[in-house]
Amino acid sequence: MDNFVVSARKYRPVTFDSVVGQSHITTTLKNAIRTNHLAQAFLFCGPRGVGKTTCARILAKTINCQNLGDDVEACGECESCISFQNNASFNIHELDAASNNSVEDIRNLIDQVRYPPQTGKYKIYIIDEVHMLSQAAFNAFLKTLEEPPGYAIFILATTEKHKILPTILSRCQIFDFNRIQPKDIAHHLADIARKEGIATEKEALELIGQKADGGLRDALSMFDLNVTFSTDNRLTYESVLENLHILDYDYYFKITDALTSGSIARSLVLFDEILRKGFDGHLFVVGLLEHFRNLLVCKDPATVTLLQVSESAERKYVEQSALSEMSFLLSALSIAGQCDINYKSAKNQRLHVELCLMKLANLPGILHLDSLPAVDETAKKKVEPQPVTTATPVNSENRSTGTSPDGNTQSVQQSSARPNAAQPTAAQPTAAQPNAAQPNAAQPSQAASAPSRLKNTVPLSMTAPPSGPAKETVVKPQAETPVSHARKEALTLESLQTAWFQFAEKRKQAGNSTTEEITLNKGFSLNGKTIEIALDNTHQLEALQNARYDLMGFLKSRLDAPDLDINPRVAPQEVNRLPYTPAEKFNYMAEKNPYLLELKQALGLDVDF
Ligand SMILES: [Zn+2]
Repeated sequence: MDNFVVSARKYRPVTFDSVVGQSHITTTLKNAIRTNHLAQAFLFCGPRGVGKTTCARILAKTINCQNLGDDVEACGECESCISFQNNASFNIHELDAASNNSVEDIRNLIDQVRYPPQTGKYKIYIIDEVHMLSQAAFNAFLKTLEEPPGYAIFILATTEKHKILPTILSRCQIFDFNRIQPKDIAHHLADIARKEGIATEKEALELIGQKADGGLRDALSMFDLNVTFSTDNRLTYESVLENLHILDYDYYFKITDALTSGSIARSLVLFDEILRKGFDGHLFVVGLLEHFRNLLVCKDPATVTLLQVSESAERKYVEQSALSEMSFLLSALSIAGQCDINYKSAKNQRLHVELCLMKLANLPGILHLDSLPAVDETAKKKVEPQPVTTATPVNSENRSTGTSPDGNTQSVQQSSARPNAAQPTAAQPTAAQPNAAQPNAAQPSQAASAPSRLKNTVPLSMTAPPSGPAKETVVKPQAETPVSHARKEALTLESLQTAWFQFAEKRKQAGNSTTEEITLNKGFSLNGKTIEIALDNTHQLEALQNARYDLMGFLKSRLDAPDLDINPRVAPQEVNRLPYTPAEKFNYMAEKNPYLLELKQALGLDVDF
């Protein structure tokens, strides 16, 4: 039986052109060799397993090649190339600084540098993990690095560039290696699989590419692992999922489908399935956040490139993104983000995630209330105390026949509203003005009004606890907020103050924190299109930052000021120290009553320290 050689070694690139995903570096190096402008010290930075050492070795081999081709690639046939290939070349020295980081090790290296190469033109010194060198070793190295003999080339490699001393950095030509794109990794793996005679599914390789997070060596190890596990020399998507213990992203698509259709039940069952498979709840939440993020970047053609997924997945994301509303995604990100932050401190973590899912499933119902009529300020006062009557059927009918392009969420939201207590309350204002509903809902400005709707909804759904009665508070202020004003007010300090006050009131009713209430009651001034607000401390600043998104959204929805901005400042704290030492106490008292000083002088008193 042949010795098994891991793919990372067996398929280590031997020419510049075969290096995966670092063309910016290989091209530069090749040009430098071609024009004879090779630096004598290089620093290769980048994550692990992206080809730093490989590139260093290729460089060493190439510049020593005796018959270098026009394409600036080593021939692989000359004496020098063969000795490199057999790891028998005397012209390359590798030092692992992680285990050889003392001054002695560096002195040994410097001693070797003194001797010119016996064969070939250059001696190459590769120092891996160079950031691990001790301070003294660094210092011992500096001189040699600055003025190396003409035949010596140093290649320092590190994963942590920030730990390298500036004196070293300034002496090196720095190359930053990229994380390798999942697509490139998958492509490379497919090549290897073909050579090894392994049947693979494209999705399986793309999955490995993603899981490797830019590191080709990791990807190759995973590839080997999966090949070892497979009994029939086949790599399927399912087997890779299982072997690498990855949560199938299909689950996120399914859960999102359930959430956008308002199905709490389906989302909970799916979550249960995920837990049963042995996945951690927190990982699930993080994955869900990433999923929402991916859907969000699909919304705009300009950001689709930020989607780092396989091609088949990309299609799915674009499809689901088209079906999910922007307002839903933004709110969902916010809610799931909160869940992520608080996960560790939750006593019952499963329930914590489940609550998050419930809130998310509830979102479509809440968001769509806003596409209903804007209720008049005066009318709403009358509406509120009215008992719930026949509102429900009218309401739901209106909604399901709305002209939203997203039929999906609309039709299901009735069912989402049903299980919670919110519906009757939510229905009230609609019932009071059923006529106003039609013209408004018929407006094609669905997409345009989406963000403003969102801003009105997020904080409420987030701050309110998700218990039954609390839902009423979740939805009630919703209806009071006239969202789509036909005409916005011009931006003046007065109109701003009015809108600001309304927002503060709304938050108060939603049960905001005391700090936020105080913060929102602070005075402010208007400087052009910027609100200048002075705060007392960082707590207030934090509260304002938390509310900022909703606040600005609300103000912009009221005022004709799309580029309105806010500039919060924390006023420097007044030093209000209490007198502590006797001298301080005396000075403090003397300040209040100058006669004390006279008394002290007259009687020749002294302060007892
Ligand atoms: Zn050669």
